[in-house]
Amino acid sequence: MTRRPFYITTAIDYVNGEPHLGHAYEKITTDVIARWRRFCGDEVRFLTGTDEHGIKVQKTAADHGLDPQTYVDGLVPKFKSAWEALDIEYDRFIRTTDPDHEKSVLELLRRIRDNGYLFEKTYNGWYCEGCEGFKTEKDLPGGKCPEHPTREPKWLEEENLFFKLSAFTQPLLDHIAAKPSFIEPASRRNEVLKVLEGGLDDISISRSKGAVSWGIDIDFRPDSVIYVWFDALINYLTGAGFGTDDALYERFWPTAVHIIGKDITRFHCIIWPAMLLAAGIPVYDRVFAHGWVTTGGAKLSKSAGGGGASADPGYLAATYGPDAVRWFLTSQVTYGRDGEFSLEQFENIYDAHLANGLGNLVSRSVGMAKKYFGGVPDPAGLAPDELLSTACATAVSECTAAYDGYALHDGAAAAWKLVTLCNEQIQLREPWKMAKDEARADELKAFLYGILETLRIACVLLAPVLPGKTAAALAIIGAEGAVEQGLEAATAWGGLPVGIELERPAPLFPRLDQIERD
Ligand SMILES: [Zn+2]
Repeated sequence: MTRRPFYITTAIDYVNGEPHLGHAYEKITTDVIARWRRFCGDEVRFLTGTDEHGIKVQKTAADHGLDPQTYVDGLVPKFKSAWEALDIEYDRFIRTTDPDHEKSVLELLRRIRDNGYLFEKTYNGWYCEGCEGFKTEKDLPGGKCPEHPTREPKWLEEENLFFKLSAFTQPLLDHIAAKPSFIEPASRRNEVLKVLEGGLDDISISRSKGAVSWGIDIDFRPDSVIYVWFDALINYLTGAGFGTDDALYERFWPTAVHIIGKDITRFHCIIWPAMLLAAGIPVYDRVFAHGWVTTGGAKLSKSAGGGGASADPGYLAATYGPDAVRWFLTSQVTYGRDGEFSLEQFENIYDAHLANGLGNLVSRSVGMAKKYFGGVPDPAGLAPDELLSTACATAVSECTAAYDGYALHDGAAAAWKLVTLCNEQIQLREPWKMAKDEARADELKAFLYGILETLRIACVLLAPVLPGKTAAALAIIGAEGAVEQGLEAATAWGGLPVGIELERPAPLFPRLDQIERD
């Protein structure tokens, strides 16, 4: 069977501060989707990285007494190590200062220019340095940017290069009408449609070097650099080999799915597809805009303070383990909506779901199988446990539908039902009583095999969210490598090897009172 190419990207992070939980949320959920698609047999390419140009970086670097390159070089390792600590398995970490990105940006610009969509004009208007965005009066109620109320918008008068965005109002409306899944969820699609129905203005895509020097030089316009957003969006093409690796590009473009925050849909759902249309390049598959993770109702971001040390992704991963962070953010926040993070709720979920739910199931089921059979019992000749095998089949189909539809919280919940069911069934059917009655030996064998097999299937379905702990649990029950078998083989009932000796495992998740916390 030929594998389908699947290209998935996060937004690239603007490096004027350290990574926070909001950044981590996007990386984790994108990684969940990437892992799920690999499990389904797709050839996945996962791109993440950093957005390094622009006036904000230039100024922050100057405040630190550094040149911009040295400044960003110092921050990038912090992003990379944060994603490593959270088990994010990306294929490339792109930096907009990478040499191939510059090539790809200039190539795209050349095509847009050759097709007649660039022109020169004096820009007279407002600019918010917080957004790195050109603003109209109506974008600045009360003369302030709503996103950056403490910053004064700047009045600019610059002879700039403009992109004829207005020419793409109708083509974009047509594109969305023909393919509604292009922008999800629907609430975001409707916002974008409203903007399009109001008509689009042409946009400035250059900055004079007098104002901003930290950017990609425009080869045919030596006094200017490219506007940071225009440069940044093109990273998705660079990451697919545009202009530098034809084989990669042929394989993965335009299969891209862009995972972004809901605040940047205008750039990703209007400007970016218009740039591609202008260059004669096929438009990517879709944008999925997630909500914000808030603490105490405030968005987590550098300017909002980041939620304090307790919401620092590095601290959380080091203290509770990467899977605990991944589990909370994936299962407790409806994907596409805002969700609240509090350390108290995080610890409650850790305790209830991980330590007492999955952790307890592994230790008690393995303990009983070892005690009564020395290992995984062989159910040959016995009917499978009907209730458990049916529940597994249901979980597989619910989980598939949910993950495929980007309802990651529902996918996690569908798989989680199996963990809950096993714990309930053990309480209800009391295998320790079966063990005391010789006439019930077969019943015990079929039941315990069923529990371990259900645990195996739960683990492969949970693996995109909990890659580390499910791998450990699968190894404990003698099913290592189950995830690598792929969706179909790994979720078929009866896949657990029998007769394997089991050892009483160390706890999968330490109890909260055993975790050293700040
Ligand atoms: Zn702003």
